[in-house]
Amino acid sequence: MITTQAAVIDSPGAPFSLQEIELDNPRPTEIQVRMTAAGICHTDLTVGAGHIPFPLPGVLGHEGTGVVEAVGSAVTRVVPGDTVVLTFTSCGHCASCRTAHPAYCTTWIPQNLIGGKRADGTSPISRGGQTLGGRFFGQSSFARHAIVDERSAVKVDGDLPPELLAPLGCSVQTGAGAVWNTLRPEPGTSIAILGVGAVGTAAVMAAALTPVSTIVAIGRRPDQLVLATKFGATHTINTDEVEMAAGLRDITGGTGVDYVVEAIGNPDLLRTAIESLAPRGAVAVVGAPPYGVDVSLDVHRLLPGRRVLGVCEGDSDPERLIPLLADLVRTGRLPIQPLIREYPFEEIQTASDDFRSGQATKAVLRFEA
Ligand SMILES: [Zn+2]
Ligand SMILES: [Zn+2]
Repeated sequence: MITTQAAVIDSPGAPFSLQEIELDNPRPTEIQVRMTAAGICHTDLTVGAGHIPFPLPGVLGHEGTGVVEAVGSAVTRVVPGDTVVLTFTSCGHCASCRTAHPAYCTTWIPQNLIGGKRADGTSPISRGGQTLGGRFFGQSSFARHAIVDERSAVKVDGDLPPELLAPLGCSVQTGAGAVWNTLRPEPGTSIAILGVGAVGTAAVMAAALTPVSTIVAIGRRPDQLVLATKFGATHTINTDEVEMAAGLRDITGGTGVDYVVEAIGNPDLLRTAIESLAPRGAVAVVGAPPYGVDVSLDVHRLLPGRRVLGVCEGDSDPERLIPLLADLVRTGRLPIQPLIREYPFEEIQTASDDFRSGQATKAVLRFEA
């Protein structure tokens, strides 16, 4: 067992509080990672606020990067000294896992989001002998060290700065995967990205690497829309100035848009996105509102082949996608650096406030060695 410092959420809605915690030694399929960076993602805030159930007090954090310090006896993917990007976990055995769709693992929700513990009911994290919620996305990476499920760890080359690696574990693969894995736009089609935060902007960059002819970035922050244009958006719609449906009609000459990535989690905008589709068009639903939020539809809008597709983590097979994303970042084809604002780990609450208010498109915590 080791002692380390973590950012604990003590109760729903409570701030992050830096505390000393104890970590188990790695079990056979676990690894011990010294964190070098961790991104803050909306799911951390939603869970911390209590909108998604998770055992609190607990430790969140689900897109980290670090260096492997120790491995369990059955670990085969990594060895001590490897640089890893931490992402979601999965069982490895169910039908989705066996067909390279681990984001749709039958155990996904309990193992990543709400369980707070290993499959056997234990948590690797405790505080003064009291068990804390841990294993968030197999990692709970808002801590200087983490006990990580082997299936959450993807080995990458260690040459990229940690602040560029961490966001690959969730937000970047979510946006890029929604375009490449789920929508797979054909040459000459149009795609609209609803939301220009980290996920939406990653989707814009990913779309720019496909042969679509039209990429519409939709948001409210003028600075983020300008950035989206630099990253490949051919058009922008500021919804404070132009109604989204009218804007999409204008841009597509009235035919509707072929593909939409909904990266906000707003049910009214989702409905508008569905209604703005061309026949046979598809919306990828990426943004997650709180549990229990409904969307109503005129069913007849769907009949001309329109599709609504839920997407989790970009339907990514992380072992394949994350090293590719790292390569694209390295060669400048996925230029995520301008999205990132770095904070020392101790300033996690400020980072989280800035992220929530939009001051930071992607807040990344850095851990001193
Ligand atoms: Zn996330
Ligand atoms: Zn599975």
